[in-house]
Amino acid sequence: MDPQADLHLPNRDPYGEAVRRRLYVGAVICGMALLLFGVVMQRTLSLREPYLQYVAPFLLGLSVLNLWWLLSRRALIVTEVASVVVLAAASIAHIVLVSLSAAAMPGAYPNSGPYWAVMGVCVLAFLALPPRRATPFNLSYLSLSLLLPWLLPATYAASTTPGLVRVQLNAVMVFLLVWGLSWFRAQHASQTQTQELLRQMAFTDALTRLPNRHAVYPAVEALLKDAARGQAGSLFLVDLDHFKRINDHYGHGVGDEVLIAVAQVLRNCVTEAGQQPPTVGRWGGEEFIMVMPGTTPERARVRADLLLTELRACTWPHGIQMTASVGSSSVRAGENLNGLLSRADAALYEAKARGRDRAVIQGESEAALNQPVTD
Ligand code: GH3
Ligand code: MG
Ligand code: MG
Repeated sequence: MDPQADLHLPNRDPYGEAVRRRLYVGAVICGMALLLFGVVMQRTLSLREPYLQYVAPFLLGLSVLNLWWLLSRRALIVTEVASVVVLAAASIAHIVLVSLSAAAMPGAYPNSGPYWAVMGVCVLAFLALPPRRATPFNLSYLSLSLLLPWLLPATYAASTTPGLVRVQLNAVMVFLLVWGLSWFRAQHASQTQTQELLRQMAFTDALTRLPNRHAVYPAVEALLKDAARGQAGSLFLVDLDHFKRINDHYGHGVGDEVLIAVAQVLRNCVTEAGQQPPTVGRWGGEEFIMVMPGTTPERARVRADLLLTELRACTWPHGIQMTASVGSSSVRAGENLNGLLSRADAALYEAKARGRDRAVIQGESEAALNQPVTD
């Protein structure tokens, strides 16, 4: 059996979708304000800057669409991938337009504007795409943005070589910094995930996938705290009857199958109306524990009998006949964990001594204790 099956891996994204959505909404609003400012400036001052004339209004329209998508809580991945692609294309278009029109606007270039946009897209790609996609995408995209001004048949690169080299070197340095940060982020996320997986493995029984003894202790402690506040609470120790015989007769593998099936039955135990669900765990071997807040000894009797009836009615692997015994104790104010558990253990011992396939509920009246086993 896969030791990691059924264990719940933590979210791979340490920042969470809600945080990212808020971040993107803020970024889109800021971007829209900048684009609007650029478009208004180019209209009022007649700048005749091709990027502001043609690309910015198009981006403004897409930003409105993006904002609507984000605010209507649609899939984040769509807006992330689409934004990376659209903004990358827009920034490349910006570099091409700048390169082609630089000669017409002497003195205006080189400025670092287009490369800040490139850095913004790289950061977004590192945030939005998985690392194995983001790194090759960003490397190809950055290389293209650096090469284009030198490849285009324009005077931009030739006429402003020292300035352009400085701007491009700055862009490479910022990119390396962003890359390093994204690497640390990925490392941190994978360490957190491994730690969480180890923690879950330490608290989960490997065979039945139920919480193990360590994982159940807090629920028992909570029951004791409830008792201090005057609230009821009971626990069951459930021990399979003559389980050794099953192993001896059918083999250990079949015994394991039965334990898994029993765990499933206990896990599906119905929660009583108005009560918290029980905590079910594997106490050890063929013994299970159920912690039931709010359950009085009287309710414990009803629940234990229902459980035993259900176990009797179950069809076990290979047509095996099997029953269980239950020992139950209910919390008393001022009692400690050992006291509560040893009373349940004593009750279980008594149930075995009385002939098995029955429940002994500590705190129940003697008359009730002597009730015949219900079939
Ligand atoms: P009783 O009715 O008195 O409880 O009898 P029992 O045979 O159930 O109790 P006993 O303590 O004598 O034997 C418990 C058996 O449970 C022995 C052990 O091999 C078996 N067991 C414990 N853990 C596992 C497990 O993980 N897998 C399997 N297949 N068997 C287990
Ligand atoms: Mg047993
Ligand atoms: Mg036992």
